[in-house]
Amino acid sequence: MKTVYKRVAVLPGDGIGPEVMKESLRVLDAAAAKSGLSLHYDEALIGGAALDATGLPLPEETVQLCLKSDAVLLGSVGGPKWDKLDPALRPERGGLLALRKRLGLYANLRPVRLYSCLAQTCPVRLAPGAGFDLLTVRELSSGAYFGEPRVLDAEHGLDTMAYDAVTVRRIAAVGFAAAARRGGRLTSVDKANVLASSMLWRTVVQAMAADWSGVSLEHMYVDNAAMQLILNPGHFDVIVTENLFGDILSDESAALAGSLGMLPSASLGGSVHLYEPAGGSAPDLAGKGVANPIAQILSAAMMLEYSFDMVDAARAIETAVEEALVAGFRTADIASGGPSVGTKEMADAIIARLEA
Ligand code: NAD
Repeated sequence: MKTVYKRVAVLPGDGIGPEVMKESLRVLDAAAAKSGLSLHYDEALIGGAALDATGLPLPEETVQLCLKSDAVLLGSVGGPKWDKLDPALRPERGGLLALRKRLGLYANLRPVRLYSCLAQTCPVRLAPGAGFDLLTVRELSSGAYFGEPRVLDAEHGLDTMAYDAVTVRRIAAVGFAAAARRGGRLTSVDKANVLASSMLWRTVVQAMAADWSGVSLEHMYVDNAAMQLILNPGHFDVIVTENLFGDILSDESAALAGSLGMLPSASLGGSVHLYEPAGGSAPDLAGKGVANPIAQILSAAMMLEYSFDMVDAARAIETAVEEALVAGFRTADIASGGPSVGTKEMADAIIARLEA
């Protein structure tokens, strides 16, 4: 087997970040050992940990390390200790959002899956045996969060939702490619009955469909999509949508999975991609050794797939996670009040199945 060498920038961050990161690296090492992958980890500071050590939430040294790495694996940032700082200095805005910008990331991928053995953690009552496995592809660089003009005074609040065809094409291509790799179904979500930016969105996405003959494309208004996610989440394979709609729909779909501790994410674009759990630093759990490491572990699996093209190794991790869940291992967040294991024990159970 030919050995593949990769350098990973590891940014554990704050709260539960360092605890779940440590376990995800053990799982990565177990998967790498079976796949001819040699991983070198360089650790750097971000968020509150960086503020405490250097006075800055994103030291330039961290950015430079990320830029020369093959991928970035991040824990999470933030916590009550830094909540009172000037917003621009706070761990999320000054650290994570700034890093995403410096890396030029424009596509956020959030897979959400309900494992049938965890059906009781889903807040929506699904038909017996019904599960879901969907991926939201959210545009990260444009839309109302970045549009100009932007005005705020005592009497007015104005945001601008703007998209150009180039930006729509590049995110739609990520959506089509993801659908082609998965179940072959793409739902493009917009509000093309009202918004000009959505009318452009729909026209551009529709024009691309001919180049993706293996993917069936449907368009859905965002209000209907929000409803269908609750009524029939199994309908969706891949959703592609603009920034604000994606922010809301991806959190809605995350809630369906029962715990943030299960949900990974990937942010793609630029030359280096970033992988991190969908949840935050969970200060309520930090230091207790009880956080669910699965979101971090599945983020590492996404890194293997999207940055290193090691799909088999990624699938091996995902299968080991599922087997550990089927065998009954539960951290407290998914235990539904029953017996639970800690962060390390959950990782041990996954590694044991990976090495079996
Ligand atoms: P959070 O995601 O940290 O926690 C929300 C709930 O989910 C909590 O009950 C927490 O215990 C639970 N949870 C999250 N991850 C879990 C895991 N792995 N295992 C078990 N339970 C888990 O969100 P919050 O409480 O709103 O924010 C806490 C801090 O995290 C804030 O400072 C916020 O700014 C920051 N934050 C960071 C990120 C990020 O780094 N990407 C994202 C969101 C929030």
